[in-house]
Amino acid sequence: MNKWQPLVELILTTDPRRRTTLGMCLLGTGVYLGFLALIWWYIAPNLLSDEERTWTWVFTTHELIAIGLFYPLIRSGYTLRYDDPGLVAVQIIWASAAVVLGYAVAPVMRTGNLQILCLIQVFGFISLRPRSAVLAGGATITMLLTMWVTMTVLHSPGFNPADEAFQVFPTCFILGLLTWQSRNFGLSRQRMADEKAHLAAATERVRQIALRDPLTGLFNRQHLQTRIDAECDRATRSGSSFCIALVDLDHFKRVNDTHGHHVGDDVLLAFAQQARACLRETDLIGRWGGEEFVVVMPETEPGHAGSHGLARLKEVLLGTELSAQAPELRITFSAGLAAWRAGESTEQLLQRADQALYLAKAQGRNRSVIAG
Ligand code: GH3
Ligand code: MG
Ligand code: MG
Repeated sequence: MNKWQPLVELILTTDPRRRTTLGMCLLGTGVYLGFLALIWWYIAPNLLSDEERTWTWVFTTHELIAIGLFYPLIRSGYTLRYDDPGLVAVQIIWASAAVVLGYAVAPVMRTGNLQILCLIQVFGFISLRPRSAVLAGGATITMLLTMWVTMTVLHSPGFNPADEAFQVFPTCFILGLLTWQSRNFGLSRQRMADEKAHLAAATERVRQIALRDPLTGLFNRQHLQTRIDAECDRATRSGSSFCIALVDLDHFKRVNDTHGHHVGDDVLLAFAQQARACLRETDLIGRWGGEEFVVVMPETEPGHAGSHGLARLKEVLLGTELSAQAPELRITFSAGLAAWRAGESTEQLLQRADQALYLAKAQGRNRSVIAG
């Protein structure tokens, strides 16, 4: 790590987006300090008349407020609640106000000030939202025009309205173009952000589709496999254990044969819904294939705790209408439970659960058998 890094992080934070706005704010602070030095050591003593020099204090106060206010407000995180957390529009308007005032009180700097006014707008290009861009540009143009009208009406000494109009109106036109461009940048940033959000939502939908079984909405076989693999790794690392249950609906072929495939589908869906409701939050159920399901129970022994949810499910299924087309139809299931043994692979664990399930079927179905 670079030895300056802690200091840089203290000043600019570690968040890349805040770093940009804080960097810009510090750049503004540097410009203010440079300008203060320029006013006090060069402009005031050399270029300004005694009367004009009294304005030096006004500019100094204006600049000290900017230096003392903007960076602390942004760095403290206080402004994160606003649409424009870098206070970019406010800073543009604040700086432009000083430049417009400078235009009025220091004739020698008029042309320079009009150029600076345009330059300040460019600071909004990289971050302003469209509305803030229009606000910043509109406020600047309004301030400049108001100053021109005021000085014209007041017959300000040394101010030739016609000559100044040749400078001020083209400047307003350029400011208008810059504002328009700043707004366009804001719009395209907004569009990109919207597209990114849509893409993220679409990616999440595709991910969910890839993880889930379309009929029941439960996790599919691939995802179950991944989760059992992960559970094996976790149990190996932590020294804990987990168990799985392989659940198979009893005589399901008969349901299809007697009531039709649609009713069979209804039963699978109803079973999935009831299983989700009966199992614990921490348990994970998925469709292994056909009318077979797998339940993964982290940090659970297959004995009492492991069988508890399945026993509850069995009871609930006896009182649940599974298909509107066959309201009296009820279903039972058999289950084979197996606790993970240290060093065991997912395949080996599933194989033992399958053997237990086979025993449950052989012993007459509608029961759970724990693998030895
Ligand atoms: P057992 O008690 O021994 O498990 O008997 P079973 O009839 O449940 O077992 P079997 O394996 O003979 O039949 C499973 C049936 O499940 C056969 C198949 O048509 C049906 N099945 C598999 N997937 C679906 C599905 O998505 N929808 C419907 N409706 N039926 C399905
Ligand atoms: Mg089966
Ligand atoms: Mg079956």
